[in-house]
Parts: sequence; structure tokens; C-alpha cells
Amino acid sequence: MLNKLTPGDMLVWLGEKDPRKLEELFREARACAIEHVGPKVYFRGIVELGNICAKDCAYCGIRSGNTRVKRYQMTIEEILAAAREAFEMNYGSVVLQAGERQDEAFLLLIEEALQGIKALSGGKLGITLSLGEQSAETYERWFRAGGHRYLLRIETSDPALYRQLHPADHSFDARLACLRSLKRIGYQTGTGVMIGLPWQTHENLVSDILFFERENIDMIGMGPYIPHVDSALPKSVTDKYDAQENFRLGLVMIALTRLFLKDVNIAAATALQAIDPTGREKGVMAGANIIMPNITPVKYRGDYQLYAGKPCLDEDPRKCSGCLELRVRNAGAEIGYGEWGDPVHFLRKKKTAKECK
Ligand code: SAH
Ligand code: SF4
Repeated sequence: MLNKLTPGDMLVWLGEKDPRKLEELFREARACAIEHVGPKVYFRGIVELGNICAKDCAYCGIRSGNTRVKRYQMTIEEILAAAREAFEMNYGSVVLQAGERQDEAFLLLIEEALQGIKALSGGKLGITLSLGEQSAETYERWFRAGGHRYLLRIETSDPALYRQLHPADHSFDARLACLRSLKRIGYQTGTGVMIGLPWQTHENLVSDILFFERENIDMIGMGPYIPHVDSALPKSVTDKYDAQENFRLGLVMIALTRLFLKDVNIAAATALQAIDPTGREKGVMAGANIIMPNITPVKYRGDYQLYAGKPCLDEDPRKCSGCLELRVRNAGAEIGYGEWGDPVHFLRKKKTAKECK
């Protein structure tokens, strides 16, 4: 049995290559998940509702500087139809994700989508937003309209590395301030990083896990970095990419985060599946308890390529969900259909806050 991990232990595990030792770590992490958040895996259907983005993050395929992308924005009817489909498939929650837009038409579209999803599901569908950096007023407005979880990856907790991967007007401090304002407003707050980024060290990854703890984060969504052909990163840098190594690190990060933080929700990122066809199930077996099946209309999927090789590009959501369900069951986990699967960490924090009043 592993005792409480130290940063030094985590560093050693990040360098571990022996498959038998790694299996032991993953088994331990899965047992920790079962003990602290239960045996179930929760599905959150993700709607990639638009690829118009004001930002120009160097690694991302839909960054504003990439002129080769055909831009789209789903209508309110299309968003509600996708959410209805998730509800009919008995998913507990949906995630609304998109490139970053701060114009009033977009803010209103999201507000209406939130109200519409609440109405069509009689309040039963949980809703996570993943719409980038916004003002505190916007976060409050969307919270009032029914959003109760928000995912905003910090991408890396190292400000210097953050600067290397973003244009000068993208600010690490502003992103951190957004995370803090989401928490203050009352969202279940999620963050995460990309794993195997250019210039990233194992020490950076250990600091990322300590960052999650320090910021009292409820949900973690992190996955391997995968280069995109139209990224703004130099070819000499993206050529060093090692898919299998990033995959290994991705699973080790899930396991270490589970063992270190215990009661948070951890997603098995789709990027894992872009590298290995059973990547998300392996993520669950390494301690993750959330999977986000893609419920974006098939006609838009090809235009939401954040990285190369995103899986299920031409799959109908219903078929996609069927095969995923089977594969998760085969991996030995149960699916929490129709349940919100709130992070135990958040519920515990809320209880403690009440008791202290
Ligand atoms: N625009 C929003 C949400 C969409 S991007 C935001 O940035 O928060 C969602 C996530 O995709 C980002 O947080 C980033 O971590 C991930 N991503 C972007 N490019 C990637 C790449 N090349 N490889 C792996 N993940 C990537
Ligand atoms: Fe836009 Fe998000 Fe991609 Fe950055 S990571 S360019 S904010 S979609």
C-alpha cells in the first residue's frame, strides 16, 4: 500500500517505465477512486458548440490565427437538440464547450441554452460550461441561468511555460483570477493541464498536481498534448513529440492526482483515445471517474480539431455511446446513468462551510 505521496515520490513515478510497476500504481489508484468517489463512471455528453475563438494559443488547432479552419457556430435549436439527445440517452449531464467569445450575442446564446436545457430536462440534466475566460459578471449571469460546473484548464501551472505557449496578450494571472472567481460564485470548479507539452518537465507536472490542491479544485480534466499541423509552434519543437510517452505520462498523472487528492472528479480525456483506441477506459482503470462522450452533430466535428486524430469523427452519438458503454463495462466499471455524479470534494467543502457558519 502506498502512503501519502510526497512530491519526490510523484517525480519518481513520472519517470517509471516498468509496465508491472505501473500496473500496480494504476490498480492502487482505481481502488482509491472506488473508496473515495465510488465505483461508478459518469457520462457528460460534450457539445462542441462553436469553433470561433478570439484567442491564439500556440498549440491549438482552432486558434484565431489558423486561417485554414472553417468556422461554425451552432444555433440554439441545434444545441438544444443535442442536449435532448443526451437526456434521452440517460446521460446525467452535458458539457457546453467552444472557442472563446465574449460578445453579447454569444453570452445571450449561452444564457438561453442553459435555460432551455433546464426546461427540456425538467432540471434533471447537469450542465458544465467550458467557454474560456469571461468577466465575473458573465460567470454570474450563466450561474443564475443554470450552469453549475465550469472547466477552465490552467494548461500549465508554470507561468514561464505558459508565456512560452501563448502570445504576449494571453495572461496566466488573468486565467487564475477567472478560476478563483468561478469558485467564489459557487461553481463546481474544474481545471487541468496538457501533459507532455513542449519544454514541460516532470517537475512542472508535480507542481501542477500541487496547484490543484492549493487552489482547492473539485474536478480535473487533463490529457496528453497532441500536436496540430497548423499550430504556431516551431516544427523543430513539435517533431520531438512522442505519442506513447505522452500517453504513459497521461495515465500516470491521472493515477497520481487520484492518490494525492482522493475525492475529486477526474475525467479520462478524449485525447487519451486519440492515441490509444481504448485510452479512455485505461484512464478509468488508472483512477478517472468521468467520461465525456462527444454529442456534437457529426457535420461539425471535423471543424473542431483542437489536435490531430480526434476519435469518433464520423460516428453517430448513439452508436458512439453504445460502444463506449460496452468498453467501459468490459474494463470492469459501472456507469452512473441519469446521475449528476457531483464531485465528493465539492459536497464536502460545502458541508464544512455550513458547519463553520
Ligand atoms: N476555449 C476553451 C475551451 C475549448 S479548448 C478554453 O480554452 O478553455 C479546450 C482544451 O483543449 C484546452 O483547455 C486545451 O487544454 C485543450 N487543447 C487545445 N489544444 C490541444 C492540443 N494540441 N493537444 C491537447 N489538448 C489541447
Ligand atoms: Fe481558443 Fe481554447 Fe483553443 Fe485557446 S485552447 S485557441 S482559447 S479554443
